[in-house]
Amino acid sequence: DGLVAPTGDPDDKAIEAALRPKNLDDFVGQKRVREQLSLVLEASRLRGRSADHVLLSGPPGLGKTTLSMIIAAEMNAPLRISSGPAIQHAGDLAAILSSLTEGEVLFLDEIHRMSRPAEEMLYMAMEDFRVDIIVGKGAGATAIPLDLPPFTLVGATTRAGLLPGPLRDRFGFTGHLEFYSTDELELVLRRSAMLMDMKVNSAGFAEVAGRSRGTPRIANRLLRRVRDWALVHGVDQIDARTAGAALDMYEVDARGLDRLDRSVLRALVTKFNGGPVGLSTLAIAVGEEPETVETVAEPYLVREGLLGRTPRGRVATRAAWEHLGLEMPENVAA
Ligand code: ADP
Repeated sequence: DGLVAPTGDPDDKAIEAALRPKNLDDFVGQKRVREQLSLVLEASRLRGRSADHVLLSGPPGLGKTTLSMIIAAEMNAPLRISSGPAIQHAGDLAAILSSLTEGEVLFLDEIHRMSRPAEEMLYMAMEDFRVDIIVGKGAGATAIPLDLPPFTLVGATTRAGLLPGPLRDRFGFTGHLEFYSTDELELVLRRSAMLMDMKVNSAGFAEVAGRSRGTPRIANRLLRRVRDWALVHGVDQIDARTAGAALDMYEVDARGLDRLDRSVLRALVTKFNGGPVGLSTLAIAVGEEPETVETVAEPYLVREGLLGRTPRGRVATRAAWEHLGLEMPENVAA
């Protein structure tokens, strides 16, 4: 099921890095965030100071990491990358913070998954550029204050609501990334196809874009699978039919749903008669972590009008039953 969820494939990672836009002008879509960010960066350049801390929220693959790289590049500053899950102890964070250089951009992916003590250390670091290093234990413990050079924190999270208020409040700017339109995804794909030296016609781009769930990372990944398919089948010019055939083979359907999405919908419909059912019960039914279901599958299913979130749990809509080719029973209130 690696087409939608991140994969550990080193080849995929290398190509993904090569396809990343390097500046704001090459960054497709997200007009509002781009304009606002450009203003924040310009203002800090004029003041000769490091930029305000930036929080980027939105589903995976929409360009949060890419934007952090662009921020560093536009500020002419080095970039340090880490993530919430990698910072389990306050000491892990202290080690990173104390080695930052002036103006450096620190990108913390999945910042909502940092441990509590690290989070509290981050508050002070963000606000006062200072941390207290605790030496010793119990009654003999002492706090040694350490000044930090000014830096810019770029935090990324799948949902801003997952962050505690005090942390959210310490960001000077919050940008929410939206799913991309099919037209925007076509632009992403055109650029990628050019970099990968692929020949694809307009209908071919439209076919891949339509199955990419509004997500550039998925668009690029699907394009690579189409490239593999075309290579093996000796196809030189890719059109809608060949792109469609390739993606059918990888179980990405015409609406962009992949195996995980369909198994979530199918479980909801067949095991729970369309719901409502709680997230964790649903996740167990498909053998996934609740967070994966919630952040990888659900945003797109909700956006496509296939799944609803209600106070009593998840429900399948009439469109979900139809998409699975099933008749919605009369006694189900969707
Ligand atoms: P996130 O950090 O939000 O999970 P990334 O920044 O890693 O997403 O983006 C995933 C891939 O999608 C990158 O390799 C990049 O090439 C591509 N991408 C993301 N946003 C854009 C964009 N606006 N324009 C062009 N390519 C993009």
